[in-house]
Amino acid sequence: MKKILIFLGPPGSGKGTQAKKISAKYNYGHISTGDLLRKLQASNDIEEDEAKALEEMKGGRLVPDWLIYRLAFKEAENYLNSGRGIVLDGAIRNVPQAGMFQEYFIGKNLAKEVLALEIALTDEESFNRLTKRRVCEECGEIIPWLPQFYNIKNCPKCGGELVNRADDSEAVIRKRIVEQGNETLDPIRNYYQDLGLLKIVDGMKSIEEVEKEISEQIE
Ligand code: AMP
Repeated sequence: MKKILIFLGPPGSGKGTQAKKISAKYNYGHISTGDLLRKLQASNDIEEDEAKALEEMKGGRLVPDWLIYRLAFKEAENYLNSGRGIVLDGAIRNVPQAGMFQEYFIGKNLAKEVLALEIALTDEESFNRLTKRRVCEECGEIIPWLPQFYNIKNCPKCGGELVNRADDSEAVIRKRIVEQGNETLDPIRNYYQDLGLLKIVDGMKSIEEVEKEISEQIE
């Protein structure tokens, strides 16, 4: 099984949910750049250039690449140096980032360990899911918009209150889909396809079925 799993997919495709499950199942480090950015935003220890870069997030735009490299490579370094694999969740949102991460893995002699997994979803379904999903205020658990969760008010894991994510307003979601949906995914998909490193799973299936498909693809 490859040591570096790169999860791709439009917003709401289930990247985060699946990255959590797969990293727990195989004891891989889970690196979510969205989580790292939110953690930085909530911290007191934040530099001026970082605060400015984080402003982009509010409008549904991408933050500058350098901040992603700063946060993600530091995390990756810890896991890889201790011999663990990693699941990159949302870390690659444009072709320059794909190239820079690939350089990083080449530098660590891990180029043969890379596998990109796309969880495929239409932009329309992406919009429907994002306008309705919630997140736990306490532990960050994402509660997808699925029938079994429609009526719950508290996190099934820790009991924390469920809220809409700060960047989940309808206008911002439309913007996120333009900037991070299938049109921007095409060149990234092509990048990994050209390297022979891409696998695709169907994101329209249930969480359990998608997890099963991913496991089959990576094992
Ligand atoms: P996510 O939780 O992955 O949906 O990310 C939330 C927000 O963080 C995105 O809408 C972007 O503004 C920002 N973000 C996360 N990952 C990246 C990345 N690799 N490059 C640029 N911006 C990112």
